[in-house]
This record gives sequence, structure tokens and C-alpha cells, in this order.
Amino acid sequence: MSRFRKNVENLHPYVPGEQPEADADVIKLNTNENPYPPSPRAVEALRTIGSDLLRRYPQPLADVFRDAVGKTLNFDPSWVLAGNGSDDLLTQLIRAVVEPGRPVAYPTPTYVLYRTLAEIQDAPTEEVPYNDNYDLPIDALSKIDAPLTIIANPNSPSGTVITIKELQDLADRLQGILAIDEAYVGFSNSSAIELTRQSDRIIVLRTLSKSHGLAGLRLGFAVAQPSLLSGLTKVKDSYNVDAVAAYVGTAAIQDINYSQDVARRIVASRGKLIAAMTTLGFHVWPSQANFILVRHPHAAAGQLYETLKAQGILVRYFAEPKLSDTLRITVGTDDQNDQLLKALTSLLSS
Ligand SMILES: *Cc1c(COP(=O)(O)O)cnc(C)c1O
Repeated sequence: MSRFRKNVENLHPYVPGEQPEADADVIKLNTNENPYPPSPRAVEALRTIGSDLLRRYPQPLADVFRDAVGKTLNFDPSWVLAGNGSDDLLTQLIRAVVEPGRPVAYPTPTYVLYRTLAEIQDAPTEEVPYNDNYDLPIDALSKIDAPLTIIANPNSPSGTVITIKELQDLADRLQGILAIDEAYVGFSNSSAIELTRQSDRIIVLRTLSKSHGLAGLRLGFAVAQPSLLSGLTKVKDSYNVDAVAAYVGTAAIQDINYSQDVARRIVASRGKLIAAMTTLGFHVWPSQANFILVRHPHAAAGQLYETLKAQGILVRYFAEPKLSDTLRITVGTDDQNDQLLKALTSLLSS
């Protein structure tokens, strides 16, 4: 007899990118972390944390953080729900909405965790392939009309975006919930967050991991009408956001100038990196994220990945059918990007 539930026995667990020790001598361009430190105000908040904050349970809804997010984005705090990273909010959403017979739909390739979370829940997945331009397959998704449809926008691993108009059109054609995963919105030109005001079936997920340089803190939030958030609140862990994350994250989210300044720098570096990669002969998908997806017509992606890794440069390689000839590369500092380009230049000429 099996030790586990059948779907757990058969589960394909999510495989995160390699995470070397913090002081390892590598150029880390594989998990879309921010190359710049978090806001000095967040670091200062961390230094001043008192022992009482650690001794007591945190606020179950991280009210202080929630208020700060509401103020920053001009939403009532009751429209904001905090999570232990946006992965936690995805977990809550899938737990609350799908089950056997109630599928989750999403276009692929995208964030692989959606599939893992559905499998844990024993829920079917409806995966609709993107075309090579990553246009939204709006007809197919609206025809499926799953209880939950998820769109990462910008998408990972492509970095491409769907317009807000298209998302609105999709939402109008769905009876089910539309979740828009805006993990990379800080590096893009547009957000769907205002759509939540018109529909109680739209939820937007954000994280402080990428644009705020706080992947290690584990903090994200959802914005939706309170009636939609109520389902997530019911199934979340009681103290899903720890006191340190709520306190430090509040300082970070309030320092809008800092996060915007860092994002501007990364967007500028992204432009330079795209130009240089194109010169090297790579096809680069148009990215509005802090990473780029690239394909070279002559060099095997898996081999490039291995050789770069041996030289201390980590990028992301997905051994999946549609991605096996591509690499996803996080935009680093100009200096890091230059070292990558130097390594690729010599690799491609040999
Ligand atoms: C990084 C990422 C997340 C998860 O972010 P956390 O807040 O660190 O859990 C969610 N969605 C996508 C598409 C991501 O790339």
C-alpha cells in the first residue's frame, strides 16, 4: 500500500533554480532576483526590530502591511491580502477554488508552480499552448472557462506581456475567476490592478521578491474585492505572514521612489543586454520583466547553460519540450551582464 495520496505519489514537485550559498563566487542570473539591495529603509527597519515583535504572534492579516499597501495603491485595506510570498497566495487560491472535476486553466509555457499546486490539490489542468509570439489564446481559454484561469503578466519565462484590454476581454468572457500574476509588473508599463474595481472575479497577485529585492523575506499580496479574498482568507495558514516580513515589508513598500529607481536602472540594463544579445545572433523575445528569454539558431541551449555554469555564471535552462532550445537570463547589473556577454562571445566564436 502506498504511503501517500495517489496524486502526491505521482506529483512532479516544483524544481527551483540552483541557490548557491550567499557568499559563493557566482554571477547569479537564474532566479530573477534583483541585483540591487532592498530599500535602506527596509534594512533599517530590520535592524530596529525588538524582541517583543518576535515573542508575540504576528497579526493574522498583517494589518500594518496591508494598510501600507492599500495607501500606496489607493485601495481600501480590505481589498488587500498578504501572503508568504505570492506563491502562498497562489496556494490559497488553488486550495480555495479547484478540486477534482474543477480545473485550473493557463497558457503555457508559464510558471510551472501552477501545475504543481493543481496536482497537489488533485485538480485537473487545462494547459493551452502559447504561439511563438506568446499572444493570449483568448478563444481557447474562454471556451474552457475553468473555475480558475491564471495569466502571468509579464509572463515567465518569456517576459512578454498581454495588454490590459485583452485581459479585460478575457475576463468578460469568463464566468470563473481570472488571476493575474503580476510578479514582474515593477519592470513593465502597465498593470491590471484597476480591473479589480469593476469585477469581483478578478484577482491580482504581486510580490516583493523581484522589484523590491526581498526574495529572501517571503512577502507578497493579492488585490481583489473583499468577497473574493474571503475564500482565500478561509483556507490560509493562520499566521502565514511572519512579524519580521510584515514589518520590513511595510518599510519597503512605502519607499516608492527607491523601488522605482532600481526598476528604472534594471530596465535600462535590459535594453542594453537585449541589444548586445541580438548582435550575438540570439533571438530575444520582447521583455517587460527583469529577465530575457533567448534562443540561438546554432548553439544548443543546454550546452551553453552547462558551459556558463562551469565558468561561474548561472542562467536558467528548462528541459521542457517548448523551451529546450532557449535560456532564461535574469538582467543583472551592467557589470554582471558584461561578464555574461564576454563569456558568450568567446563561447560562440569557438
Ligand atoms: C517569482 C514568481 C512568483 C513567486 O514569487 P514569491 O513572492 O517569491 O513567491 C510568482 N509568480 C511568478 C510568475 C514568478 O516568477
